[in-house]
Amino acid sequence: AAFEGLTSRLQNVFGKLRGKGKVSEDDVNEAMREVRLALLEADVNFKVVKDFIAKVKERAIGQEVMKSFTPGMVVVDIVNKEMTELMGGTQSKLAKASKPPTVIMMAGLQGAGKTTTSGKLARLLQKSNHKPLLVAGDIYRPAAIKQLQVLGEQIKVPVFSLGDKTSPVEIARQAMQQAKENGNDYVIIDTAGRLHIDEALMEELKQIHEVTKPDEVLLVVDAMTGQDAVNVAQSFHEQLELTGVVLTKLDGDTRGGAALSVKAVTGRPIKFAAMGEKIDALEPFHPDRMASRILGMGDMLSLIEKAQSGIDADKAAEMERKMRNAEFTFEDFLDQMAQVRKLGPLDQIFDMLPGMGKMKGMKDIKVDEKQVNRVEAIVRSMTIEEKQKPELLNHSRRKRIAAGSGTSIAEVNRLIKQFDEMRKMMKQFSSMMGPKGPKGGMK
Ligand code: GDP
Repeated sequence: AAFEGLTSRLQNVFGKLRGKGKVSEDDVNEAMREVRLALLEADVNFKVVKDFIAKVKERAIGQEVMKSFTPGMVVVDIVNKEMTELMGGTQSKLAKASKPPTVIMMAGLQGAGKTTTSGKLARLLQKSNHKPLLVAGDIYRPAAIKQLQVLGEQIKVPVFSLGDKTSPVEIARQAMQQAKENGNDYVIIDTAGRLHIDEALMEELKQIHEVTKPDEVLLVVDAMTGQDAVNVAQSFHEQLELTGVVLTKLDGDTRGGAALSVKAVTGRPIKFAAMGEKIDALEPFHPDRMASRILGMGDMLSLIEKAQSGIDADKAAEMERKMRNAEFTFEDFLDQMAQVRKLGPLDQIFDMLPGMGKMKGMKDIKVDEKQVNRVEAIVRSMTIEEKQKPELLNHSRRKRIAAGSGTSIAEVNRLIKQFDEMRKMMKQFSSMMGPKGPKGGMK
């Protein structure tokens, strides 16, 4: 998966820091040496790495870390923030023409994903109620026109084409006319790519630029090519003023170099990220979310925010006490489920947990809300007495509960068995941790 190597190396470094109560300057230096190597190995531009490390070090060795009770966490936080900055800080939105149509010119090498991305972008715009026009300006790659037409048909977006005998500059000129006549508020121009940058290509792109005066010139680059992608972006930018970058193939085995270097090297922000071949696989790029993802942190911050606003502290303390004393009942179980569900849909909660993406198979788990509802129905069909004393649940009671909840006896049996195991585990835990919890445990 994307960033896998980088993420696990960084987590290793931070894991070591977290284990320490106090962090010395040497510890920070050692950690930064390892972060530096991890970034270089992920194919991040060496100058970008150098600046990045210098910034993180400066902040980490200053007051911030040394004063903290949780120095490891502070270092992670600094790295997270600097990484976010490195990728542009905040989301960079698509420009909008003061007078429609807004013109978006797509550029890039062959195979980067230009044509596919043009279709995806049309799809995104369409979803927010715009009326895009796609323009088939790549007349050299044999299948490009047809490919764009198929994409257009799939999403019911018109595709302007004059075949492959008219020059792309003329195609672009007439497409602009057509967009005005048909009231399209966005024009997306797919252009030709080459295997390498050459003069004829650049000349053509400049002329299309001249004729259409685009509001956006988006360079599509393949994230899998790492620093090469950044070099391509740099060369394009020297010839044709880019307004932004689209990173494609982030669903693949990319190491991170392109995502982390392209803004710093070209000065142009990543505006979109493509994560798959399907027409819906394009998302606005958020530097902060990407940084969290690279660091394997999930979206911890929003989870903590949600938890703090949603969970009743007194209740949580009471629950903890019950767990320790193994007094946990089915009533508590329902209560706890309700608390967790206040946080949002369960699979979204999973997504936000750090490390979940890393665990094998974890990200493929679809939490079945229906299943959770059935569990709730079963518990609600129990009498108060049964909820408090699960050992009362004999066969005839289980049968009644199954009928009452619209489930089966097998499901009821399964739930009771799971609940029993949970209680056993809690008992073991509390005896392991002693009456006051683990030594130096959570604060
Ligand atoms: P162009 O020559 O730049 O127009 O490139 P295409 O749009 O034809 O894309 C080249 C190949 O990359 C095609 O097979 C696409 O399906 C594939 N592709 C494009 N974007 C993505 C992406 O985000 N993820 C994956 N996995 N494949 C992509």
